[in-house]
Amino acid sequence: MMHGNGGFRIGWLAVALGLAVGCGRETAVSVEVATGEPGASSDPPYSERVVFRSGLRLTLVRDRGLTATYPAPDGNPFGSVRQRHYARVAYFIDLPRTSLSQQVTANFQIGEYVASARQRGATRAYVDPQIADHVQQIRSGLGRPLTLNSGFRSPEHNRAVGGATYSRHIYGDAVDIDVDQARADANVRAQEIFNEARDVGVDFVLPLSETSVSVDGQPRVSWVHIDDRGF
Ligand SMILES: [Zn+2]
Repeated sequence: MMHGNGGFRIGWLAVALGLAVGCGRETAVSVEVATGEPGASSDPPYSERVVFRSGLRLTLVRDRGLTATYPAPDGNPFGSVRQRHYARVAYFIDLPRTSLSQQVTANFQIGEYVASARQRGATRAYVDPQIADHVQQIRSGLGRPLTLNSGFRSPEHNRAVGGATYSRHIYGDAVDIDVDQARADANVRAQEIFNEARDVGVDFVLPLSETSVSVDGQPRVSWVHIDDRGF
């Protein structure tokens, strides 16, 4: 529905959407989203193994205690029709036993997707191969390196940073791509990321502003949240 020309509109403060996305305590600066290709989802149920574009295969582990911290699938904000997209994550990457320098795609290591979780002492994570593919495609399209601010968060971690209960970060298919807010062209760069994300078929794209830094009264984007929620 949002394909075609046009981009995000800086200045529209979609607080409700921001809460639905749930990166944290930030302000949404767009009401436009990108919708992905139908059938290309990598929703739960997750299995005991995950395979990335690089060929990296990881055997996952159960952590029933962690799984139990996930919110009930049928309570998601989009209703029972979407509950299969919100199944609790049942298998996780065992971080202490995983070399985090391994590539998941050509330019990204698995450690980049779990860095914020590890900073909080996490030993479990999940990284969705589809979002990893999309991040790589965005990077390749832009032709410049990207910094990933936040990937996987446990429900507890997500709560601690003010994320929405059903944030896609807890399902491992959301990534916040950093936009250097100090740059005068931050919004131009955010727009480029937005456009690439939309072009490669990311399910949901939303530029967000972490602080009150603004340009001519409009918020300056600090990161672009992308996720493959499956719809
Ligand atoms: Zn986010």
